[in-house]
Amino acid sequence: MTSKPSKPIMLFDCKTSQSVIGKNKIMNALEKILDHGAYCQGPETRELDEKLANYSGTKFCATCGSGTDALTLALMAWGVKPGDAVFVSSFTFVSSAEAPVLLGATPIFVDSDPNTYTMDPKDLQRAIDEVKKEGKLNLKAVIPVDIFGSPCNYDEILKIAHDNGMKVLADSCQSYGSVYKGKKAGSFADMSATSFYPTKPLGCYGDGGAVFTNSSEENELVKSCRVHGMSPEDHYDNVRLGLTGRMNSFQGAVLLQKLTVFDQELKDRFRVAKRYDNELDSYFGKQQILDNCQSAYALYTINCADRDELMSYLKENGIPCGVYYPRPVNTQTAYAKWNTRPLPVCEKLSKTALSIPMTPYLDNEDLDYIIRVMNEFAAKKKVKAA
Ligand SMILES: *Cc1c(COP(=O)(O)O)cnc(C)c1O
Repeated sequence: MTSKPSKPIMLFDCKTSQSVIGKNKIMNALEKILDHGAYCQGPETRELDEKLANYSGTKFCATCGSGTDALTLALMAWGVKPGDAVFVSSFTFVSSAEAPVLLGATPIFVDSDPNTYTMDPKDLQRAIDEVKKEGKLNLKAVIPVDIFGSPCNYDEILKIAHDNGMKVLADSCQSYGSVYKGKKAGSFADMSATSFYPTKPLGCYGDGGAVFTNSSEENELVKSCRVHGMSPEDHYDNVRLGLTGRMNSFQGAVLLQKLTVFDQELKDRFRVAKRYDNELDSYFGKQQILDNCQSAYALYTINCADRDELMSYLKENGIPCGVYYPRPVNTQTAYAKWNTRPLPVCEKLSKTALSIPMTPYLDNEDLDYIIRVMNEFAAKKKVKAA
């Protein structure tokens, strides 16, 4: 019998990496900024732009203030505006849909695949056909979301979008470090957005994000919109609308340090996921990762018909867990106007999905215990059902 570990188990862990990197290294990097005084978009964020573009295998990366900024800036670079239809996942964090709505576009919500939880290409095609038939909106862009860190079916989504004259913006906010058929997150689609919010696979100590593209024109537009639409020639002439979308140098410095342990952290996330994959009872449904792909495991999310009961059971036993997401975006108050399509899979996932502890720093003692408690729950349920 494995007993409860003496240390608390965490759902996320944004802190242990500090001692792995060395707190003094982080402090030294922050102190340098106090000395040079370039607090916003200083040398650290410029170095980070290059490192991240390299890591992702894209020509350009523009760091910015958050993942939401990144999504918004990419859509601004494409000139998304009122009258445009933007097709977006609904089983996601709200900002995947918030970005197009802020620009006045109409979000068209697309259902998820029940096994991968990501955008269902068949439902995307249906949604496009419906909008075409109505003939009121201009087909503009698709935003698939790599939910919980797992890449979407980009081959199919890119083909459908391009066949209909649309661009694809990958919402890779949860999937930095993931792999789709040999490509790294950042390079999955026409443009990609990621987030460095502390709980994401590559997290900073505040807010941060980045936009990736291979087009220098798009990159220049993103960089202009990041500072209020500034002209690169005349900093007092704003030639388009933009945002206060800069990354501050402190977050840049933190991310440069965190990149030094990122690959090891990813390996440890795979180690944890593998144990769950192999050892959790088949009573729990598991998120299916596409062939030749690797999730970044922002979260490990199972699905279970008795989700709420399981959640109480885990909490009673000292195992934290969380529901991502209890309400698909189309059912949220601010989005009611655009709740126009049935999304049965999203609806079901919002009632059955449960995220269990996933951090690179879970050890075998933690995992033995979590797996035992979960499998005990499954065994009880199976006895009752028999
Ligand atoms: C976190 C997240 C965002 C937004 O990122 P922020 O940095 O919090 O603005 C967008 N989309 C998804 C899927 C996310 O998980």
